[in-house]
Amino acid sequence: MAAQNLFDCPVRFVKRRRQRYIRIRVKADEVIVSAPYGTPGTEMERFVEEKRDWISANLKKLNEKKTRIIRQNRFDEGFLLYEGEWTPVEIITTKGRPSFEETGFGFRAAVNESGTEDSRDYQADEVARLYYRWSKKRLEGRFRALAAEKGFKHENVVIRNQKSKWGSCSGKKNINLNWRLIKCPKFVQDYIFVHEMCHLKHLNHSAEYWALVDRNYPERMRAERWLKENGALAFQKP
Ligand SMILES: [Zn+2]
Repeated sequence: MAAQNLFDCPVRFVKRRRQRYIRIRVKADEVIVSAPYGTPGTEMERFVEEKRDWISANLKKLNEKKTRIIRQNRFDEGFLLYEGEWTPVEIITTKGRPSFEETGFGFRAAVNESGTEDSRDYQADEVARLYYRWSKKRLEGRFRALAAEKGFKHENVVIRNQKSKWGSCSGKKNINLNWRLIKCPKFVQDYIFVHEMCHLKHLNHSAEYWALVDRNYPERMRAERWLKENGALAFQKP
């Protein structure tokens, strides 16, 4: 049913014997449309279309609590944005080689002493550089696995420090991905991966292209909403 794609959560249609009118119930992750037995599907769809704004407003309200948590950069409190969540990072200074690793509680970054007064910005720069380097293998691995699973053939996958784009795909079938995807939840990463994969077959945003995306990734609206609401935050340092 077309109404399934109106929102970033599933729409479930049910028919009930004792019910007299079409009714809509909005939950944080699901919309349930119920109607009396014998109501045509098209009529239920039309009803959802009519109530579209009302449903969207309620979905937004219900989901606000979840998204509000991450709206502010928390690096100064000792957190890094990682897969959509603020994750603790311990920063230590070293005279040796700077390093970045996962620990039982989050991350540990070892940076050199700044040597200047402005150590906060220096640390943010250093942590960003190390985090970027650390993200490469991980993002590339996840992209390759998903492409293989979905049967897309590509050439190189390069993780870059792009200033605004999340990813791109060239005519030569090379894929570029922004390292900041490591800050996005996995479902958002997967959307960008599929978005670029589908450009391997269509180097445009035609209707055929979007149909291919939707076939390979049913949660597009949810991912786009996350990016719209949190994308700018993911571009902040580190
Ligand atoms: Zn595109």
